[in-house]
Amino acid sequence: MNTQNDIYDLAVIGAGPAGMMAAWRASECGARVVILEKNASPGIKLLMTGKERCNITNAETDARMFTEVFGKNGKFLVSAFNRFGVEDTLDFFHENNVKTKTERGNRVFPESDRARDVQEVFLRLIKENGVELRTDCVVKKIVCSDGGIEKILLHKGEVRAANYLICTGGLSYPRTGSTGEGYKWAKEMGHTIIEPKPALTPVLVKEKWVKDLEGLSLKNVNVSVYQKNKKKDGRFGEALFTFNGLSGPVVLDMSKSIGKLLSGGQIELVIDFKPALDPGVLEKRILRDLEENKNRAIKNVLACLLPKKLIPVVLRLSKIDPDKKAHSITKEERKNLRTLLKGFRLSVKGLLGFNKAIVTTGGINLREIDPRTMRSKIIKNLYFAGEVLDLDGPTGGYNLQVCWSTGYLAGESAAEK
Ligand SMILES: Cc1cc2nc3c(=O)[nH]c(=O)nc-3n(C[C@H](O)[C@H](O)[C@H](O)COP(=O)(O)OP(=O)(O)OC[C@H]3O[C@@H](n4cnc5c(N)ncnc54)[C@H](O)[C@@H]3O)c2cc1C
Repeated sequence: MNTQNDIYDLAVIGAGPAGMMAAWRASECGARVVILEKNASPGIKLLMTGKERCNITNAETDARMFTEVFGKNGKFLVSAFNRFGVEDTLDFFHENNVKTKTERGNRVFPESDRARDVQEVFLRLIKENGVELRTDCVVKKIVCSDGGIEKILLHKGEVRAANYLICTGGLSYPRTGSTGEGYKWAKEMGHTIIEPKPALTPVLVKEKWVKDLEGLSLKNVNVSVYQKNKKKDGRFGEALFTFNGLSGPVVLDMSKSIGKLLSGGQIELVIDFKPALDPGVLEKRILRDLEENKNRAIKNVLACLLPKKLIPVVLRLSKIDPDKKAHSITKEERKNLRTLLKGFRLSVKGLLGFNKAIVTTGGINLREIDPRTMRSKIIKNLYFAGEVLDLDGPTGGYNLQVCWSTGYLAGESAAEK
């Protein structure tokens, strides 16, 4: 056991996915590593990922597309992806007995559907490689001298190392330990911080009745964003009704553009429940269903067209008595129904904050970090990896891939003696 006065080759702050990957890689390269984690166990947020199934990465094979999803900052990732990309990530997990499967949208998950299996790989590797893991260990302060870090102060004691790596994550889901200390320290050391904001966050809507739909997951729908009757964004895929609004991959992925529109006037979300059917085909389909079920109540007829939970809401909004027999549905009522199925409108009230945001947009300014090593251009023995950087991608495994790639690269660069 090392004492607190020992000098390590590398001290990693934060045992999330980026920190654990970096600590393991540095130890593989022969470095003596300590990893400091304020929680009682590492990877608390990792365990929550992908609804506890962990969407490890995205099997998108076009490397250019993979970086483009990160917007203008994506090019910063080229070196990290070249050094440890999607293929390497998959090989890494397969070699460590985590079999994977690829789902819709190239989302890769452990075959077991257990995020815990991913966490356990790192716990085992860290232990096998002799990395010293200190949990319940809060880093309080970073002390610098002569353009470098001299030591870090803990809630009790201090740690000295040749190099330091900040992997403290962003500000989203602060109860998992990501409370933004990394930004504060980096700023004190002369780095600039691009203002952190919640991203991939659920949308709040004005319609109170949305609570009746809570938990309803919609597959294969189109959701569009409108402002002043102009379409501003739109996606096809999966959406989820929450107690007070909408979530799910398509909505989370549009939350950034919705956030930018908020100050410009009322925004509407328009859901097309039947994107594969144009209005004419849908009309024929409704007519057929009504014809084949003439004597049944409309609420029962709609079951072949819509999820059960949605039927009372759709009928209420179309002003149709749920018990009305199919044969007496009027042309006007049919039109209302069709319009609603192709354009179910919700008025945006706002976005949820960091407590419910999947990631943080903003962070350490990438201009001040060498993308080939993840080393600070300001402090000579300081490195960064993971979500603390000004990088955020859409849902689909992209954000964890940033952690694996930047963590790997930072770990091996910081291990160099
Ligand atoms: C609900 C949810 C689901 C998600 N699902 C997915 C998914 O399926 N796929 C995907 O790609 N991404 C997903 N993400 C995003 C992904 O989890 C994050 O991008 C990723 O965890 C960031 O990793 P990190 O190592 O940079 O930081 P974090 O995971 O935030 O880890 C940072 C660590 O640093 C520690 N720390 C902070 N300050 C200190 C301090 N002062 N002293 C000591 N330790 C400190 C924290 O306790 C924490 O353990 C999800 C996020 C959430 C919230």
